[in-house]
Amino acid sequence: MQEYTGFNGEALELIRDTNIPEAKSMLDRVLILTNAHTNEVSKRTLGAMVQPQIDKTRFALRHIFGILCNADMQPEAKVDELHLNKLRTNYTKIRSSFDAFFPKVFLERDNPAMAAWVSNNLSDPTVNFTKLYFDLSEMDQAVTLIHERAHTILRIPGHPGTGDSPVCIVPNQGKKLGFDVASRNAYCYEWLATSLHPNYDPTPYEDACKMPTH
Ligand SMILES: [Zn+2]
Repeated sequence: MQEYTGFNGEALELIRDTNIPEAKSMLDRVLILTNAHTNEVSKRTLGAMVQPQIDKTRFALRHIFGILCNADMQPEAKVDELHLNKLRTNYTKIRSSFDAFFPKVFLERDNPAMAAWVSNNLSDPTVNFTKLYFDLSEMDQAVTLIHERAHTILRIPGHPGTGDSPVCIVPNQGKKLGFDVASRNAYCYEWLATSLHPNYDPTPYEDACKMPTH
């Protein structure tokens, strides 16, 4: 099967030259910022200036994946260490999957409900795209790829704990599902990657969830 099917040149180039490199860079960032040893070294050499980033990272880890880390990014308990190691292994697998071949198919649909999806047959690595994908911001396009690859590579079908279309989620606040559920939900992998992006701002997500006042 060819790598890209059904895309026009512009769409193909957007995915290949912008979205995939951004997805890789977001995954690399997650792996660096969740590395306790790297954080310890930066804290020792750079001092207090690294603390806000550590605090952002541990806030997101706690709320999205239920992993507790102290102010030095050390896991609080043995169970947190096990979960953090498992999470980092999973992110490493997703990151590697962007260096492997996977087919990408564009499908015309009159009324697409999803921007992208993979088959429930997880041995099929094809990522299918609809025109909705191209309405997303570039950051959302990149995390959508992370989400779809997480399904396939981690073999995690469905979305336990959130359903297929979670609404009113502020990414760094997650959905407080606890590690066992969150680590099987592809949305949680995209939320952490979004939360740790330097341009991440929770405000638009918070505003979108506020009830209109009259
Ligand atoms: Zn999904």
